[in-house]
This record gives sequence, structure tokens and C-alpha cells, in this order.
Amino acid sequence: MDYIVVGGGIGGTIAYLLLKTLGKSVVLFEKLDYLGGCAGTFKRDGLFFNVGASTLVGLEDNLPLDVLLKILGIEKSRMPIKEIDPSILVFVGDKVISRYKDFERSFEEINRNFYHRENRKLWERILMTSKTNWEHVYKVLPFNPRSCYKLASSVLRNSRYLLSTLRENFLSAERVIRSYLGNVEKDYQMFLNSQILMTTQCYWNEVNFSFASMGLTYTNLSNYYVKGGMAEFLHTLVGQDENVKRKTKVLKISKERDHFKVYTNRGTYEAKRLILNRTIWDFCDLFDDSVDKGPCEKNRKTYSKIWSASTLYFGVKDPQNLLDKHHYQIVHPDENPYTGSYSFFVSVADPEDTVQGYRPVVISTHCKIEKWEDIKSKEDYQERKEKLKDFILEKLYQHIPTFRNLEKTPVLVGTPHTFRRYTERYKGTVGGIPLRFEYTMLRYPVGFTYIKDVYLVGDSVFPGQGYPGVVLGVFNLLMQIERDFHEVLHRYI
Ligand SMILES: Cc1cc2nc3c(=O)[nH]c(=O)nc-3n(C[C@H](O)[C@H](O)[C@H](O)COP(=O)(O)OP(=O)(O)OC[C@H]3O[C@@H](n4cnc5c(N)ncnc54)[C@H](O)[C@@H]3O)c2cc1C
Repeated sequence: MDYIVVGGGIGGTIAYLLLKTLGKSVVLFEKLDYLGGCAGTFKRDGLFFNVGASTLVGLEDNLPLDVLLKILGIEKSRMPIKEIDPSILVFVGDKVISRYKDFERSFEEINRNFYHRENRKLWERILMTSKTNWEHVYKVLPFNPRSCYKLASSVLRNSRYLLSTLRENFLSAERVIRSYLGNVEKDYQMFLNSQILMTTQCYWNEVNFSFASMGLTYTNLSNYYVKGGMAEFLHTLVGQDENVKRKTKVLKISKERDHFKVYTNRGTYEAKRLILNRTIWDFCDLFDDSVDKGPCEKNRKTYSKIWSASTLYFGVKDPQNLLDKHHYQIVHPDENPYTGSYSFFVSVADPEDTVQGYRPVVISTHCKIEKWEDIKSKEDYQERKEKLKDFILEKLYQHIPTFRNLEKTPVLVGTPHTFRRYTERYKGTVGGIPLRFEYTMLRYPVGFTYIKDVYLVGDSVFPGQGYPGVVLGVFNLLMQIERDFHEVLHRYI
């Protein structure tokens, strides 16, 4: 093989498909029986549940998923998606904010709930910053701060853009927002933080205004529901492909003189190059002693402020479709003692995806790893899961009482331990690299590793999480390791 791809999350699967398009001999190994990883869909007792991700953006003209479909020669109309608007209903205190796609409509909602005379100026700047970033998204590629030459040429190519966005890039979101709003009322602050956290994995004081603006305008992009579960997006892209080997776990990799030996539960394979859909802090776990693991393990310390997630999965009987939106976000002032978070996200499957009379529901929230590190016994673990479930459900019923009265299936609870077991990610660190000041700019990790011919894709490398982020990261890597891809990408952007 020219390449072996380890892991069929978004990053691994897209890298596989693009390498195949370039005519490379490539095989992909995924240990589970579905593709998607954190953006996958698992089945339990007849119902299907999205593992984590449930919202999809990035399909507008020239955004990463649109370009991807064009490269792969797949019509958008073939994809199992349905546009939704408003994409999210956000509950903060006694306020409910509908997040519409249309800027004016979404602004009116915000201004009605959190009136401030400078609101318009602030939100217009947020929109403008986000638009400018999307416009420059391919111009900054190839991005590699570790290569002086690539960094310098990227800076030169984008000098006007960089100069005009200096303040946006170097000032925190909090500082810029406060320059318009002064002392921001508590509910408004919680609303802003919940929207910023969702896409940047940071609170407003930890991230620059530029990244935060992309999070705050996430709902102004076309948002899609994926029919049959998120994994169907990747399953449709891949179709039947015998080189995508599911239920195949990579157990060990050995570095030979000019190739790699990859040992799986179904046999041994060899390739010249590897693409690992693993994080910058755990990919070395796959290697035997032929490889020094030090630099990779050091990343666990360097990038230590990483989130995990907690989740609830259950079905609701809702024959009258009382739950008429797909996504709800509940923001609460008191800290969730079992996760350290202040909000959670609720996704309800489409009525057409009702299975055995039940609509699958997934609730997810950011979770601090340390909250689950001191488990003493199996009983302790069970008890804590129960308490986590009760805490979240009580808040859900307070804000959306309909949920209390609907008949439900037993609730499954996911914790950092669950995410570690299923995704193999170190300590269950999911959700992507937080776009904190200290992890971006010159320290922004890209898909190159210290091992020659071993590359990384996924949400721990530039530019980070979610469908558009991970796909862009794959574009960035392939531009740098496959000369032909540069030309292919430029044909479509
Ligand atoms: C709770 C939650 C909610 C989210 N919500 C959204 C959302 O609404 N919208 C959005 O766009 N993004 C969302 N995200 C982020 C998004 O899901 C992730 O950024 C993205 O899915 C990560 O993709 P990845 O390429 O890093 O792969 P991963 O998801 O990490 O997948 C890696 C894959 O590799 C496989 N693997 C690992 N080791 C091996 C091995 N040894 N052998 C074989 N296979 C292996 C795993 O089984 C897994 O399938 C959410 C994330 C979480 C956790």
C-alpha cells in the first residue's frame, strides 16, 4: 500500500477518500462497525444514537464540505441531509433565543432578549469577522507554523488580511465584546459563552475574537440534520468499498527500514506511509518500541487543558411531534458538579427517524476529565452516572417540561471512560483542541509528526474540531504531502 489510514472518524475517512481519488493504493481500518467516531452513530436495542456530533455545517458554496463533494464528484442532492432553521433553541434563565440563519432575524432575537444600544455594532463586527475568515480559509493553506518557509509564504500571501485583523487575532473575545457592551449582564454572558464554547472549546477570555466570531455565527450558516444519524453522511460518501475495513482494530505498528508493518486483529499489512486518525497526544500508543514515544507523550502536558464529554442517550414516544425542533441548548447558572460545565445540548431525531415508536434523543455536555478520574469502584461509577443523569434531566424538565411527560426508554449514560473505550482517545479527550491563545498561532499543531512518513488527521490538528474543521485539516495535510492534491483543490475553490 502507498498509505494505511488508521481510524474511520471524519478525518481518517475523508483522507482515505481523497487519497483514493488521487489514485493512491490505500486501505482504511476502523475498529468499530460504523464510521464516524465522535460523529458516528451507534445502535442499541433497535434505536440509533449519534455518538456526539449532531449538527452539520459547511455545505455552502466554497465551504469545505461543498468543495469536498465537488472533488469526490458527488451531488449534494444525493446526501441524506435536511436543512433546519432555526437550527438551535437556546434556553438561558427565562429566555429562549431562536438561532436563525438569517442575520437580521437572529440579531432581533438576541437584541430582544439582551437589549443593548451597542448590540448592532457588535454583532455586525462579529458577522464581518467571521465572513472575512471564511473568505480567507483556503488562502492560509498550506498552513504549517513549524516550517519557516511555509509560515513565511502564508503570511506574505495573506499580509493584508492579517494586518486588517490584527486586533481580532490578538485580543480576547471578552475584551472586544466588553469594548462594546461594558458590563455584560449575566444571562447574556452565559449565552455568549455557551455559543463560543460549542465551537472553540474555550470560554470568551481564553480565545481570540476572530475564532469566537466563527462560533457566534455558526447558526448563520446553513445547518443540516443528517437523516438516519450522522454516520450516514460518511457511509453515503464511502458506499461499498472493500478497502474500508470495519471491525478491524490496529493493535500495533512497527517501523521497518522503509515501510511500516501494521498488525490488526485481521492480519498484517504494510505501507510506505501512515495517516493516523488519532490525537497529537496519543498516536504513539499505536507503536511498538521501534519508535520513541517521548515527544508525543509530552503533548499530553503541553496541551493539557482538553475537554471530554458526557452524554445521555434515550428514546421518547412523541406521536404528536411535540418536540418540533431538532436541537435545544440549555444554559444554567450553576455548575454541573459531575462535568464542570454550565450548559448541555439536546438533539432530537426527526419524526421520520422514529424507530419502534421512539425518537432517539442525545444530550451531550462538555466534561472535565478530572471529574471522573477518582472513581473508586464499579458501584461508585454507577452511582455517579445516576447522579449525572438526574442533574441533567431535572434541568431539562425545568426548561422543556414536555420531556418530563413523554414516555422514555431507559437512559444510557456516557462518560469520559465511555469515550476512551470507544474512540481510543487518551483519557476520553474528545471535542477537539481548544482554540486557546497558547495552543494556536505558532503552537498550532498540524498533521506532521516527528516520525517520518507518519501523519495525523482529526480534531487535534489545525484548524480543529467539527466537520468543516477536520475536513480543512485533511486538505491542509494533503496539500503538503501530495503535490497533485494542491492542483485538485485549486480546481474547485
Ligand atoms: C459530544 C460531542 C458533540 C459534538 N458535536 C458536534 C456537532 O454537533 N457538529 C460537529 O461538526 N462536530 C461536533 N463535535 C466534534 C466532532 O464530532 C469531532 O471534532 C470529530 O468527529 C472528530 O473527528 P476525528 O477525525 O478527530 O475522529 P474521531 O472522532 O476521533 O474518530 C477516530 C476513529 O478512529 C478509530 N480508531 C481509533 N483507534 C483505532 C485503532 N487502533 N484501530 C482502528 N480504529 C481506531 C475510532 O474507533 C474512531 O472511529 C462533537 C464532539 C463531541 C464529543
